[in-house]
Parts: sequence; structure tokens; C-alpha cells
Amino acid sequence: MVSKIIEEVTAANAEYASKFTKGSLPLPPGRKFAVVTCMDARLDPAKALGLEEGDAHVIRNAGGRAKDALRSIIISQQLLGTEEVIVIHHTDCGMLTFEDSELHGLLKERFGKDIADLDFLPFSNVEASVRDDIALIRSSGVVRSEIPVSGYVYEVETGRIRPVEQ
Ligand SMILES: [Zn+2]
Repeated sequence: MVSKIIEEVTAANAEYASKFTKGSLPLPPGRKFAVVTCMDARLDPAKALGLEEGDAHVIRNAGGRAKDALRSIIISQQLLGTEEVIVIHHTDCGMLTFEDSELHGLLKERFGKDIADLDFLPFSNVEASVRDDIALIRSSGVVRSEIPVSGYVYEVETGRIRPVEQ
């Protein structure tokens, strides 16, 4: 039994593929940069940042946290030639709404699992989280010092990005 979602996405994909003309793009991103951002459904990096297929790496996770993205950032730079990183967190992020202890408690209650050592990387201030993540990337010791790392907050209310650190 195929779910309604699977029916929808496969139909959408058939439509996309019927007009697809970008089958011979090179593997390394053509514009040589990576974006680290949140998985939030309201944020569409391709539309908001003017990206086409083949342009850039978009590394997404809950919150757009650099700690979670570091593995991908290293692969992006060392193996696929990207030379710039943009960190974008956003207003009204779900990561502003909970603390680790709450999620640990919930998992214990629902699954009987004690994973108190897992850091979900929530934050209480979106500008501060952008600054923290830029600092984490710069101090990681695995990103070349001349690589520009900038940070923005995307406003889900306006569609704009505003600079935090450039
Ligand atoms: Zn978010």
C-alpha cells in the first residue's frame, strides 16, 4: 500500500523529470559554497537564495547547527571544492521552543530510553546561535582560516535574510 504522500511526490517527480535538462552537471558545486541551515519547512534555500541545481551544497538539520553539519562541511570543502560557508538560522525556529531536559524526559516516558547524554542543540537566541556556530566552524581546526564564514537570520515572516556576521 503506497501512502498518499508517496503518490503525491512520485507524481510531482514525474512532472519534474519530464522537463529535466540538467543531467550532465559536474559533482562539485559550481558556485563553490555551502549553506548550513535549518530543516524548517518554511525555508526554501533554493528559492530564497537563488540556487539552481548544481550551484551549492545545502546542509540541513534541526536548527542548522554547525556541530551536526561539521562532517558534511568537511566533505564539502576537502573533497568537493567549496570555499565559503553561510550559516542561516531563522526566526520562530522550533529549536527555540524546548530544552534538552524536556526531550530527554519525553523519550524516557515514551520509549523507556535514557539518552541524557544526547545534545539536541536547542538555543534561546537565534542571533547568538548563528554566532556560536560561526565560532565553532572557525575554531574547528578542520576549516582553512581563509574560508569566509558568514551568518544570517532568515525571517519566516518576510522571506528576508538579515546579516548577523559577515
Ligand atoms: Zn528551525
